[in-house]
Amino acid sequence: MDALSSDIQFLPGVGPKRAQLLKSELEVATLSDLIHLYPFRYIDRSSLQRIAEVRPDLAYVQILGRVTRVTLFGPSGSVFWQSSPGAPEVPTDANGKPLRFNAVKRLSVWVADATGEMEMVFFKGIKWNFDRLKPGLTFLFFGKPVAYNGRMNIVHPEVDPAPAPGQAQAGVGTLTGVYTSTEKLKNGGVTGKVMNRLQAAALAKCLPEIRETLPDYVLREKGLYPLRYALQNIHFPESQEALAKATYRLKFEELFFLQLSLLKQKFIRSRGENGIPMPKVGPDFNACFNALPYELTGAQKRVIKEIRSDLMSGRQMNRLLQGDVGSGKTMVAVLSALIAIGNGYQACLMAPTEVLAQQHYANICRYLRPTTVKCALLTGSSTVRERREIHAGLQDGSIGIIVGTHALLEDIVQFKALGLAVIDEQHRFGVEQRARLWAKGPNIPPHVLVMTATPIPRTLAMTVYGDLDVSVIDEMPPGRKPIQTLQIGQGKRAHLYRFMKAEIDKGRQVFVVYPLIFESEKMDLKNLQEGYEDIVRNFPFPPYKVAIVHGQQTPDEKSFNMDAFASGRANILVSTTVIEVGVDVPNASVMVIESAERFGLSQLHQLRGRVGRGAEQSYCILVRDIKVSKESQKRIDLLCSTEDGFELAEADLRMRGPGDLEGTQQSGLPVALNIASLAKDGVLLGEARRYAEKVLTADPTLEQPVNAPLREELRKDKYEIKDFSKIS
Ligand code: ADP
Ligand code: MG
Repeated sequence: MDALSSDIQFLPGVGPKRAQLLKSELEVATLSDLIHLYPFRYIDRSSLQRIAEVRPDLAYVQILGRVTRVTLFGPSGSVFWQSSPGAPEVPTDANGKPLRFNAVKRLSVWVADATGEMEMVFFKGIKWNFDRLKPGLTFLFFGKPVAYNGRMNIVHPEVDPAPAPGQAQAGVGTLTGVYTSTEKLKNGGVTGKVMNRLQAAALAKCLPEIRETLPDYVLREKGLYPLRYALQNIHFPESQEALAKATYRLKFEELFFLQLSLLKQKFIRSRGENGIPMPKVGPDFNACFNALPYELTGAQKRVIKEIRSDLMSGRQMNRLLQGDVGSGKTMVAVLSALIAIGNGYQACLMAPTEVLAQQHYANICRYLRPTTVKCALLTGSSTVRERREIHAGLQDGSIGIIVGTHALLEDIVQFKALGLAVIDEQHRFGVEQRARLWAKGPNIPPHVLVMTATPIPRTLAMTVYGDLDVSVIDEMPPGRKPIQTLQIGQGKRAHLYRFMKAEIDKGRQVFVVYPLIFESEKMDLKNLQEGYEDIVRNFPFPPYKVAIVHGQQTPDEKSFNMDAFASGRANILVSTTVIEVGVDVPNASVMVIESAERFGLSQLHQLRGRVGRGAEQSYCILVRDIKVSKESQKRIDLLCSTEDGFELAEADLRMRGPGDLEGTQQSGLPVALNIASLAKDGVLLGEARRYAEKVLTADPTLEQPVNAPLREELRKDKYEIKDFSKIS
């Protein structure tokens, strides 16, 4: 019958109470849930430790020991009864009466092998263990050794009968699965052993129902275990080798279906002719290109080529452009926009903050000077009159490029012919917001270029943006000196200020950034304000000038202060993380990050990227609090050790796991992974992706009969992914 979907409660050994626990603690409600809960670790029951070799740093030991003596303790360590050779088997109290076991607080069982003796301790199940662990008998004891009063013991070891001489343990293989557990589960009787028994029972019922999810040819080509066999061995491995193959099969399957579901959309889309064809580059592109104040880097050239061929293809472009802070993404965006214009279309560039939009606007206007293209800026603080003009200019096509914030999304904003949408720092925009942009163009959806300075490890990019094409600018414009990154303690503030003064005297400018620490914005502001006042005290006017920017200011205050710093009138800019993205002040050579331990790795990296844009030596100074967690310290050390954003992102991924990865929380993973890990299985992920590509190239819609199992699997709810790039 239908075992897989049947309620866990009816599995022998479960019942209503444990079923409730399994549900609340492990989200296991059916037999299918249970057998898809895999061990997170295996214990090798075939290896024995000698007692003399037991150390507290061993996670688990297994000892074959003979019971030598047994002691029953009462309250506060008083000895109730002790075994001795020839003494009666039934323990008695001081008056010679049989001992009442519920008064016994602790059972101590001493066991010995050829190398020594050690103690097994029981606080529960005392009577039962006393009755079976008789002096002279030999057992297998298994558990975590701890040092207590200078001696090693094991509290509540698992006890198994000793195997007959020359024979492996009866029944099971030598590897035993260990499952996630909780205190509540253990107290409810769902111990490791019980879990193993439940899995065995569930598998016996379910395996005959398990249908293979991969076609025969896939199993053959990739040399994979059949699903049934893999499931059996993931829970009860016959050997290390079988476990490795079972793990491989299940991980591969998981990553393969993930990639298949992502790529399938891409394949279907790329077959369609639903993009605006943009066959030429046009005179404005050439004018801008020929007037460039610098030579494009190799990476910029390559990316522009990739974008050009997308735009020419007649298919819609959906491209993610990754490039470290300062790698020159803006120029790529401008040249792409000019291609759109050269083909009779308009372009928009959307930035996450007003400050950034302004900066983009200023830069783009500069780049556009040699061209005839009109550019406009639309933000929340545009006046009614400005808006009216812009709306009209977009509709009649006189504005070629519009730069803006969320204000661009308003329904009233309509284009004559939107051909390209560039989105900067995409992780700050929700999917729905982006979708609203697409409704603004002509009938054919615009091409889309998403730019991010958050380096995302390849493994993650392939997954989170699995159906986007990815371009990477992996080369910095020439002539930059590496940034010197140092960490200092709070106590070194006087030193820091002296150093800042020396830099300012050389004509440089300094960023000082405060984190958002407190729950309330008020408290954060107070923190920032105090830091600001301290700096103003130490850098008095004249000659020093300090600007401050934070989220509570009006747009006018903000841009006044930003301008003061950007134009060089202010020497120091004190701010919260509003300057995190994009702001470009080439003369700023020092980035001071207060309470650096509060920032995430990629945020620190982004902040550091604000300096080092000019030709001068730049510095990033991380000010640490006195107490810093080990993990924060590791982040700070890492940042000091490398400037490579991708290396940092990989490290971040390893340290934190992909779910937490900054900049990707919003996008998240399309499908929850059960056994594979993006952090650890990058190589396998790449393999699964290539294979998925191969399968789809041969059969883009998976309609061939051999691929029926794939089609069926992908129909499951869990593959119904949010579409991160859906344009139309
Ligand atoms: P980001 O990728 O962070 O957006 P920008 O586009 O703001 O980087 O570029 C950072 C700085 O580098 C800008 O001042 C820009 O003018 C400059 N730049 C960009 N490309 C080059 C290049 N090929 N050679 C020299 N400087 C460049
Ligand atoms: Mg930028």
